[in-house]
Amino acid sequence: MKAHDGMYIGGQWRPAATTDTIAVVNPADEQVIAHVPAGTAEDVDAAVRAARAAFPAWAATPPAERAARLTALRDELARRQDLIAETVTAELGAPPALARAVHTGMPLLVAGSYAELAADYAFEESIGNSTVLMEPVGVVAAITPWNYPLHQVVAKVAPALAAGCTVVLKPAEDTPLTAQLFAEAVHDAGVPAGVFNLVTGLGPVAGQALAAHEDVDLVSFTGSTAVGKRIGATAGAAIKRVALELGGKSANVVLPGADLAKAVNVGIANVMSNSGQTCSAWTRMLVHKDHYDEAVALAVAAVAKYVPGDRVGPLVNAEQRRRVRGYIEKGIAEGARLVAGGPDAPLETGYYVSPTVFADVTPGMTIAQEEIFGPVVCLMKYEDEDDALALANGTVYGLAGAVWAGDEAQAVAFARRMDTGQVDINGGRFNPLAPFGGYKQSGVGRELGPHGLAEYLQTKSLQF
Ligand code: NAD
Repeated sequence: MKAHDGMYIGGQWRPAATTDTIAVVNPADEQVIAHVPAGTAEDVDAAVRAARAAFPAWAATPPAERAARLTALRDELARRQDLIAETVTAELGAPPALARAVHTGMPLLVAGSYAELAADYAFEESIGNSTVLMEPVGVVAAITPWNYPLHQVVAKVAPALAAGCTVVLKPAEDTPLTAQLFAEAVHDAGVPAGVFNLVTGLGPVAGQALAAHEDVDLVSFTGSTAVGKRIGATAGAAIKRVALELGGKSANVVLPGADLAKAVNVGIANVMSNSGQTCSAWTRMLVHKDHYDEAVALAVAAVAKYVPGDRVGPLVNAEQRRRVRGYIEKGIAEGARLVAGGPDAPLETGYYVSPTVFADVTPGMTIAQEEIFGPVVCLMKYEDEDDALALANGTVYGLAGAVWAGDEAQAVAFARRMDTGQVDINGGRFNPLAPFGGYKQSGVGRELGPHGLAEYLQTKSLQF
């Protein structure tokens, strides 16, 4: 596939500081499809300088003009829809239908939402004898993971630009080609030079240099909890703003009286989508003891429809496949009942894992507590609502969740008691304007919609 051999800095593609490269691999056939430059601290410094130089003028640009550039960005992304979907399929392994509907469709929606918000947002408010100005925080470091290569980028860059911040993006090493396409779209949208900059590279090298750069004002990171803790510590020591979107172990709570078949089918689909590589996936299904055996049978039937290589893509790389298989083996070793799938490779080539369902998972098991990030669902049995709540809240995470009940008010009452940032009631639809982010160790800060925009603003109060 086509790849740039430089960094996008100060409005142009510039040679990288070294000739080191990163190979991009198609996880479906394990073939190298491109190489991108492996950025160093030197590249990061050049990008941060460009972002700093561009900041005063962009911050002073009227919101209506920033909105116009974001509308143009949305249109440039839309013009590239086919190429974006093909690129996500090539570097992430997402099945074409998913690549188009979710990996391309969702970022278009989010970019469009920030074009509107930039125009409509109240960047000023009156409180008593004060006028409060919402001003951009400054230079933003955006560090993104590979699981939704374009969405993760747009969910940071679009609100940052809407707020008047300038950005340096360090995308995941597995999916840099989609990020390069995004940079092309930014360029063609007429966003001024230096407002957006891209440095590809390894996390511990380019990512770390960016997170630690003294001229960065805010670090927005999405990825693993382990790296997030380090970035939070670095930012804290430098008194820098930080937003962290980390892992999850979300509960799908099926209350008695719910439409069991629907709850189980949607629950399985939720985890199988993107091969389970979704931080908000409902990876624990909690079912009342009276309906439990039926739910297990329904889950086994539902998961059979997810055929690897067809509806389910591979995992992103060999290391992720090794990790996920390790969790499946651990589940078996710790006494969970394997009712579908297992650790064996379903296909000879590609980093595929069999869609897997465990029954009789208990809270002390590793697979009940740790994020697996693969197509693995854990069914857990509960006695009553309090027991279900204790299970739902019984991990270090709190990113998302679902509640199903015959009576919506009962589902809402349960959702209010959950320690988590998002809850879908009886299959409620994804809302690109609703704040997304975690309680507990799932993170700090919120993305999407007006709450996501507010992350990139700081207040100044004028008294009269
Ligand atoms: P990761 O933490 O290894 O990598 C994420 C990003 O951080 C990449 O760009 C990587 O290059 C960079 N990075 C790695 N080490 C770094 C360091 N020392 N300093 C600075 N940057 C560094 O995570 P991953 O393996 O790419 O993604 C999978 C994990 O991300 C899962 O645990 C998943 O739950 C989490 N995730 C969370 C969300 C969310 O919104 N909450 C979304 C997607 C993924």
